[in-house]
Amino acid sequence: MRQENADILIIGAGASALACAAELAPIAQKKNKKIILLEAQKVCARKILVSGNGRCNFTNAKANPNTYYGDKKFITEILTQFPPNACLNFFDKLGLKYICENDRYFPLAGKASAVKECFLNWLENYGVQILENQTAVKIKRQASLWQVITQDAVYITKYLVLACGSKAYPQISGTELGYTLASQAGHKIKTPAPALFGFDLQEKKALLRIAGIKIQANVWLEKYPYNVQTDEIIFTARGVNGNNILTLSRHAKAGDRVFIDFLPQFTNEELKIYLQNRAKKYSSLKTKALFSGLLPDNLINLLIDFAHLRKNNKLVDFMPSNFAKIIETLKAWPFTIYTLRPFEEAYSASGGVLTSEIEAKTLRSICAKDLFIIGELLDVDAYCGGFSLHFAFATGVLAAKAIGDELCRI
Ligand SMILES: Cc1cc2nc3c(=O)[nH]c(=O)nc-3n(C[C@H](O)[C@H](O)[C@H](O)COP(=O)(O)OP(=O)(O)OC[C@H]3O[C@@H](n4cnc5c(N)ncnc54)[C@H](O)[C@@H]3O)c2cc1C
Repeated sequence: MRQENADILIIGAGASALACAAELAPIAQKKNKKIILLEAQKVCARKILVSGNGRCNFTNAKANPNTYYGDKKFITEILTQFPPNACLNFFDKLGLKYICENDRYFPLAGKASAVKECFLNWLENYGVQILENQTAVKIKRQASLWQVITQDAVYITKYLVLACGSKAYPQISGTELGYTLASQAGHKIKTPAPALFGFDLQEKKALLRIAGIKIQANVWLEKYPYNVQTDEIIFTARGVNGNNILTLSRHAKAGDRVFIDFLPQFTNEELKIYLQNRAKKYSSLKTKALFSGLLPDNLINLLIDFAHLRKNNKLVDFMPSNFAKIIETLKAWPFTIYTLRPFEEAYSASGGVLTSEIEAKTLRSICAKDLFIIGELLDVDAYCGGFSLHFAFATGVLAAKAIGDELCRI
């Protein structure tokens, strides 16, 4: 088997690995230390490329411990050291231009590939090697160094960083191998589960009538009445999707009821006054006129049936009970979750390496020497909206700083 030596070896070349290598590269070059990244896929950073619908929502101005699930103390320590503006400064350094939309940051180029390219240019400039088609299958300590075994080579390194991501989205690059490697180093794993997925709904007939509709809405679960930020939801023939749906998916179970407020811009009272005034003004017109300009056509038609209104009724004949039913429906329309989605449709995974076995300041393993574990492989997951990538970059940069500090002390 071919043997190769490195000083710092990173397993994975996704978001957290690239951030770690980028932060470390200048110090490593100065100290004449070799960084190698091993990537199982034919090309690296596949999740960055598909992220944010191909636009890569790489951080969020509102990233804070409450937008993450996991050990809050651990997450707080990481976000305190690497808040959203540190992420922006980091990308400024790498030369990425970006824009902000509702607290979410995207590359100015409008393409996720801009993020990958800025990393690759930076790393090439510092002579960092990314070896693709190299799947690490085994790690072991030998004579105070790490041995990493891939399908056709053995790599020897002092510092080892596990940046293998989670098992979500296996059709891109998601894999269980990271958990296996971490276990080989003595780490315990919390069983991963799909996180951040759309809802498959039971109301298939209704969905056929509104599939394709995109609308700003509030959503919440009956059993988890936390109302996430108003955002766009998208109906499909199978269910409903959108950032706020993905965020709620963490708490969903099959059979749970999900409520949608289709007019979050109005309170119930404001909507009542608006509709009553409109009914007075257009008293001779029919039911549909009450909603025109307010909602998409197909949704109005569904509402008329759902709220048992008569299409040909004149607005002058509307009863208080009709208004009450319309408001109740529009402000809290109930749907039922049919099934939860599998890892293939989940943008991330909950569970992973127990953070109680990782130093939050440095991402250093407390189970094994000179080992660092970063990114989604850890038992931390997040809301939808740039928070997952922020965490991947944060942990990558913090691990790099810790290794860099040690290199400077040697
Ligand atoms: C469709 C989709 C859209 C998303 N959109 C967003 C978004 O807009 N904003 C956001 O914040 N988050 C988004 N995410 C989540 C985000 O992409 C991940 O949280 C992030 O990429 C995790 O970074 P990571 O470095 O931990 O893992 P990854 O980026 O997944 O990188 C891990 C890498 O390690 C490699 N690897 C694994 N095991 C081995 C091994 N044994 N040997 C060698 N290589 C190995 C993998 O091939 C992979 O390239 C999205 C995810 C998906 C699937």
